[in-house]
Amino acid sequence: MDNPRPDIAALFTAMKAGNDARRAGFGLSERRAALDRLAKVVRRNEAAITAALATDLGRPEAEAILMDYLNTLQEIRHARRHLRRWMKPRRVWPTLATFGSSAHIEAQPRGTCLIIAPWNLPFHLALGPLASCLAAGNAAILKPSELTPTSSALIARMIADTFPPDLVTVVEGDKAVAEELLALPFDHIFFTGSPAVGRIVMAAAARNLTSVTLELGGKSPVIVGPGADLKQAADWITFGKFLNAGQNCISPDHLYVHASVRGAFLTALRARIARAYGTAEASPYLTRIVNPAHAARLSALIADAMDKGATPVLAGGQSGQLVGPHLIEGTTPDMRLSREEIFGPVLPVLTYDRIETVIDAINAGDKPLALYIFVRDAAGADEIIRRTTSGAVGVNLTLVHYTHLNLPFGGVNSSGIGAAHGEAGFRAFSHERAVMRNRFLLLPILFPPYGPRVMRLVHLLKRVLG
Ligand code: NAD
Repeated sequence: MDNPRPDIAALFTAMKAGNDARRAGFGLSERRAALDRLAKVVRRNEAAITAALATDLGRPEAEAILMDYLNTLQEIRHARRHLRRWMKPRRVWPTLATFGSSAHIEAQPRGTCLIIAPWNLPFHLALGPLASCLAAGNAAILKPSELTPTSSALIARMIADTFPPDLVTVVEGDKAVAEELLALPFDHIFFTGSPAVGRIVMAAAARNLTSVTLELGGKSPVIVGPGADLKQAADWITFGKFLNAGQNCISPDHLYVHASVRGAFLTALRARIARAYGTAEASPYLTRIVNPAHAARLSALIADAMDKGATPVLAGGQSGQLVGPHLIEGTTPDMRLSREEIFGPVLPVLTYDRIETVIDAINAGDKPLALYIFVRDAAGADEIIRRTTSGAVGVNLTLVHYTHLNLPFGGVNSSGIGAAHGEAGFRAFSHERAVMRNRFLLLPILFPPYGPRVMRLVHLLKRVLG
């Protein structure tokens, strides 16, 4: 943390005043200019961003560029390109009862927003929502995670160099700072983080009746069916599980593999993992676990499973925050690995005979953020999709739906409320305001006093509209 702690209440008041002054003047060109400034400062800091990610997470340059740098620029460019259409008021037809009026829906800025970001994609999960927030014409206070301090300090510098403090300000800090921010009557809170903290955020928002978008996490399953292309599945599951060392909200958490292909698939998966990362824990291509506490949490999850009878299929080793790929069989529901979001490079492998048991297990748990299905027959995938729910579904792929900016990105209940990315992100930060104009509404003939003529019309209307 480079910056001294600001007076948060004074900052909020100034931002609210700035917002009120800007309200009418923050149109298409001003918003585009703000997005351009954001893109420019991101581009100018490319090297600093990859360096900060190397310092905070030991993240390989390829992953730093693909996940944080390019995802952020894509979000900004997409918003810039489509903003005119998103902002355009949408006319709606009158209904029978409102004949004689014209109406439209306009996306109005919510106002002063709070964005709270996690550490696992420190830049994209702070600056991506900020792009949506600015596109929608709002001001924001942004709080990055304290667990990636170099990235947090860089974000604070980048924003301070780019925007007036009454438009965007970064407030660095931990839980205590977040709590202080959450006490303020923001117009919208956009939170990305764990379901446990999501509950705290929603409870705090309830006190001010502030609207929320909650981008949470949970346990996302992956299924490898009997007819899957095993090479394709091994490729994508290796990528999905071990990118960022499994520290992604949509990383496959655990795997269901059909008994008929278990042996062949595990052989293919082990070989693919070895090709990507070798067999030691210190691969240059494997991101570090964010801090000693999270590394200890992962060791404890593995130890708990082993104590209760699970067996390693692949044990990639661990030295401090470097944790190699692990595949574990024989996990049971009482183990912590089965109950908690793993958020690391450890994949429990469960073998199944009947897809019903997998569907029942998915439906018995919290609604996942993502569900991945590897099958060759489209009908098999459709059957699983129809009988389950999740924030998103990927068929014969993992993770990459995250980058599809024409899809909303979000969870269901415990995995999230509301959605982000592209137009969904713009809408999250907008109030859909209904505007109706009287052209020649006939309603005044029904105004009181309710004499016989009005009552005849009321009964006529009852027959027509009822
Ligand atoms: P976290 O919930 O611990 O922290 C997120 C943010 O909340 C941080 O800025 C932190 O300072 C703040 N915070 C912590 N305690 C708080 C409190 N009591 N009150 C208010 N704010 C508080 O999450 P994390 O460990 O940074 O990130 C990992 C989690 O985030 C995982 O569950 C993951 O699945 C989820 N996640 C979700 C998405 C998504 O887009 N859905 C993306 C990334 C991560």
